[in-house]
Amino acid sequence: MGQITLSKVTKKFGEVEVIPPLDLEINDGEFAVFVGPSGCGKSTLLRLIAGLEDVTSGTIAIDGTDATGLVPAKRRLAMVFQSYALYPHMSVRKNIAFPLKMAKFDQAEIDRRVEAAAKVLNLGDYLDRRPGQLSGGQRQRVAIGRAIVREPAAFLFDEPLSNLDAALRVGMRLEISELHNRLATTMIYVTHDQVEAMTMADKIVVLQAGRIEQVGAPLELYERPRNLFVAGFIGSPK
Ligand code: ADP
Ligand code: MG
Repeated sequence: MGQITLSKVTKKFGEVEVIPPLDLEINDGEFAVFVGPSGCGKSTLLRLIAGLEDVTSGTIAIDGTDATGLVPAKRRLAMVFQSYALYPHMSVRKNIAFPLKMAKFDQAEIDRRVEAAAKVLNLGDYLDRRPGQLSGGQRQRVAIGRAIVREPAAFLFDEPLSNLDAALRVGMRLEISELHNRLATTMIYVTHDQVEAMTMADKIVVLQAGRIEQVGAPLELYERPRNLFVAGFIGSPK
């Protein structure tokens, strides 16, 4: 589970077409990275998949079922926000449990899932602390924990590491890659950072002005860029 298919998806804000007709297939278990310059439509595309924005036309299917009209909660996808989206007054346990509380899961199931997520993320010793008592990396793990407990078909990340310092960012990249290996769940990861894309992705989707310039494995894009934009973008990391 976790196959996502976009067919002829478009998005207009007012009269401005931010996403021209776009087709994309993300396979079950794949780590897909959307990369491209600021303003190219990465977040919009992710929000369309999550259901946080409505498509203007076209369809989005999840595991072969049309999800185009579904509200976010019905899509079985979990968006991972930057760690500053945590509730500062709640313990780590309550932060992670929050989506399950909202969905009215029973307490035993909540406890089971929170404990399991905490174990995967090495947060077991921190469950009773508040976010303010954690390091930046630990806080980002709590934000990921909040997604894991929902047992989603896919995780959606929108530049989750952009407010961490450079050293921490490298560590968190590895942690997210390891998490992907362990869970084997589809992940879609948005970044404007070429190095992040090259090191984390199974499949890179290079975007420019809402269009897909090329889709392929990191090495494929590096060795056989389809055009100068891809060559320049992948070839010259900042
Ligand atoms: P990225 O995440 O790649 O930086 P975005 O998806 O945020 O790009 O934005 C793509 C384009 O859509 C930009 O031109 C941006 O100004 C525009 N845009 C994004 N969200 C909205 C919105 N809610 N209303 C109007 N324009 C928007
Ligand atoms: Mg963005």
